[in-house]
Amino acid sequence: MIQQRKSPNAPASLAGRRTWNGKDVQEALYADQDGKCYLCESCTEQYYQIDHLRSRKNYPEKTYDWANLFLCCSYCNGRKSDGFDDIVSPCDVPCEEIFDIDLKPGCKAVEISVRRADVPGAERTRELLHRLHNGKSAGMRDFRENLFYKKLRGAVLDFACCLKEYKNHGTPENRAKVAELLKIGKPFLAAKMSLLRDCPALLEDFRQETIWNRSQTEG
Ligand SMILES: [Zn+2]
Repeated sequence: MIQQRKSPNAPASLAGRRTWNGKDVQEALYADQDGKCYLCESCTEQYYQIDHLRSRKNYPEKTYDWANLFLCCSYCNGRKSDGFDDIVSPCDVPCEEIFDIDLKPGCKAVEISVRRADVPGAERTRELLHRLHNGKSAGMRDFRENLFYKKLRGAVLDFACCLKEYKNHGTPENRAKVAELLKIGKPFLAAKMSLLRDCPALLEDFRQETIWNRSQTEG
């Protein structure tokens, strides 16, 4: 999960308060979120849905509220449902600074930890991210949860390889390969950020590449 940006003007179709998933809403969310699910950071392509950050069931007044709508993959939307109304507000806080998403070698569980417990909703968000990354209990992932885990693990291992190459041979080519995987449209940036944090010198080298969507809260 990384911080999200949202176009300041709500799509016109929301004004009628009859539908929240008009074509203009879908297109605006897709552009704002670089085609990725705001929760798991998978590229959504065909499989996106529109999630109400605060659920329709518990916050009916926010049903057509532009600030409450996010692009989400069907995998995450189904698991979040209306049981996680109290997670962090993704446009307001630098999510990638609040959580670590660690895939320990040889360990099948993905470790989700809170780095900034002072942020409202952080612990509840950790619970949701844990659910998305590990299923109901680690090692007991269902078929779809396992597919997601394999996709995440593959991307993180690829990134770790590129990072190691760059660490051993800091050539411009190796640097460019790492930078490419840190572009905002690429999946799983928060997990990549967690890997970078393990090595402060590398984090410093890629500081510019790891400032995503921060202009709204800076200055
Ligand atoms: Zn997702």
